[in-house]
Amino acid sequence: MHVEAIRIKKGYRLSACGRPSLELQRLKAPERVAFVPKSIPFIKPRVAVKEGDPVKAGGLLFWDKYRPELKFRSPGGGSVEAVRWGPRHVLEAVVIRVDAEEEAETFESLSESAIDTLKREELVARIMDGGLWALIRELPFRNIPPGQDTPPRIIVSMATQEPFEPQPAVYLKDQMELFQFGLRVLQRLAPEVSVVLPSGCDAPDALRRMATHGVSGDYPCGDAGVFLYHTKTGPGQNRSWYLRGQDVLLLARFLKEGRYPLERTVVRAGPMAQKPCHIATRMGVPLKVLGGFGTGNGACRFVAGGLFTGYPESETGYLDFYETAVGVLSGDPTPERLALFKPGYDKPSYTRAFLSCLRAGPLPVDGRYHGEERACIGCGFCAEVCPVEILPQFTFKAVLAGEWEEALDHGLLDCVECGLCAHVCPSKIDLTETLKKARRDLYREQLRP
Ligand code: SF4
Ligand code: SF4
Repeated sequence: MHVEAIRIKKGYRLSACGRPSLELQRLKAPERVAFVPKSIPFIKPRVAVKEGDPVKAGGLLFWDKYRPELKFRSPGGGSVEAVRWGPRHVLEAVVIRVDAEEEAETFESLSESAIDTLKREELVARIMDGGLWALIRELPFRNIPPGQDTPPRIIVSMATQEPFEPQPAVYLKDQMELFQFGLRVLQRLAPEVSVVLPSGCDAPDALRRMATHGVSGDYPCGDAGVFLYHTKTGPGQNRSWYLRGQDVLLLARFLKEGRYPLERTVVRAGPMAQKPCHIATRMGVPLKVLGGFGTGNGACRFVAGGLFTGYPESETGYLDFYETAVGVLSGDPTPERLALFKPGYDKPSYTRAFLSCLRAGPLPVDGRYHGEERACIGCGFCAEVCPVEILPQFTFKAVLAGEWEEALDHGLLDCVECGLCAHVCPSKIDLTETLKKARRDLYREQLRP
């Protein structure tokens, strides 16, 4: 295919210690796995199992109250050990004790020749029933799309240039045929499928030939929302759908083999990870099973998901439905004394206030805030890095003032929730979280089924 190259000028490249190598470590099956729905947006789970119930791998665990056809299935076969609820009766996790001989649910398989002949509604119904529809998301709100809609296009993001994320060279190794099968399925769902490959990521040659668009730039240049912002030709394209390269494989495996796909390629990374690398494991794996935590030099802090977009998780947690990375950072809670007067040779910083700006090599990122929230000083750093040019400081102020029209005019809906504005802000203002919440409120008000 012809590869169109797009240069994304804004963004940020953080050279962080502990980038995962391309080595793939295989883990033995864990005794327990869990379905953690934490980051699945806009759903209200209705649980179909209770503690002690037997469940097959791929068996039904819960469905969405608003759209009962949206199902979610078990990452393991065995028995339900716990159904954990959090504050306000929010489902936190369904924990499964895995049997030595796991039973698995079977589904109707789809042959290569049937991809083009199966009705679209039937294809959508199969993916929804198989618990994988949530892998597809709709822009700009990143909600799970209605199956009956046809999007203007589907964007497949192969990588975003996040420092800690699985690379296509690893998760696509020996899987190109399956990936092609998945792309053919997506072509039945939308008139156009864009495969977006950042120039700096590790990818097999076959993928480079197959990609429809190349992007170059810093994080998050490969994000579907960033790609859409820089390529859309009209408002009709705003409601495009997207999914990640690894998720195309899951979809293809489910349809082709007729079984719920449990496999995941995740990365263990960060300055405190013993051996940062890729890991072949399964969905819902306990974080402690991913192993290699801690260098023995102090407490660790775990971040599930990317360095800029992840959230803190404890060692007793499980990997959630979407996440494919665990960052291990220093968790030393002792406040740094007289930090202002230190040269900061090792301190990662967007500003050039520390001597670290003279270093070319990677720097150790930690889990501290290095200060408290202060008033905005109008430095403009957030606007310098925002890949969709929405002037985050003004959008943020408009949201806080309840000026929704103004926030939308600034481009609130274009925000890709990349986390960069909050990362570079010297006043420690969590712009990303505020904008994210505002976008969710808007979706709930306007579009929720
Ligand atoms: S506003 Fe912040 S989170 Fe949103 S796209 Fe810009 S930099 Fe990323
Ligand atoms: S980076 Fe922070 S302090 Fe600087 S303009 Fe943006 S919000 Fe204000």
